[in-house]
Amino acid sequence: MAVHGPATVAAILVAAGSGTRLGAEVPKAFVRVAGRTLVEHAAARFVAHPRVRDVVVVAPAAWLRAASALVPGATVVAGGETRQQSVSCGLAALAADVDEVLVHDVARPFVPDAVIDRVLDALASAQAAIPVLPVTDTIRRTDAAGELHETVDRTTLAAVQTPQGFSRAALVAAHEGAPPAATDDAVLVEARGGRVVGVPGDERAFKITYPLDLLLAEAVVSHG
Ligand code: C5P
Repeated sequence: MAVHGPATVAAILVAAGSGTRLGAEVPKAFVRVAGRTLVEHAAARFVAHPRVRDVVVVAPAAWLRAASALVPGATVVAGGETRQQSVSCGLAALAADVDEVLVHDVARPFVPDAVIDRVLDALASAQAAIPVLPVTDTIRRTDAAGELHETVDRTTLAAVQTPQGFSRAALVAAHEGAPPAATDDAVLVEARGGRVVGVPGDERAFKITYPLDLLLAEAVVSHG
């Protein structure tokens, strides 16, 4: 972080996934909810946030022009085969003076401003900050054969949302030589000895994965 004044913050919005579980004909980021694509909904939160200066959208290679048109003012770059590779592509596109980075899944289009603020506030004392929520389902361990094993005490679990916030230096170091299959940036930072803190998430930052989630998204837009 800069010695004087507030940190310069960039948001990397990862939007390069195919979203096959949604069953749509376009990549998930370009699916529409209430007439606007998910990438527009998600980007609007960060573009409007007073503490976020830059927005980088990581899109599928064939959708760069579309993403640029939908999010004017954002830097748009092509993603990779995996989420980890897509985050790396976004990191490579950051301006030189950025010192804190938010990494956000466009699959979570309705993150409230307060979550962004809590994540950024927590970076004052940690290399990474992640929004978390209690787990409400009963969770059991299972195996590749589908056999059920023990129930896990859910009071010991937390569901992790995005945006995840990082000091830029910690995130860049964590992605160097990272396994491409890594699905979570904070885990990579932690593996290198970085301090990761949790802040309260928000139900409205839910992730759109299945068609049913689109119905919930429509309801959120209609009812606020
Ligand atoms: O597939 P899943 O919903 O877990 O993806 C999480 C986020 O990572 C999504 O916003 C998706 O667009 C992004 N992603 C990506 N590049 C990939 C795979 C996923 O940007 N190759």
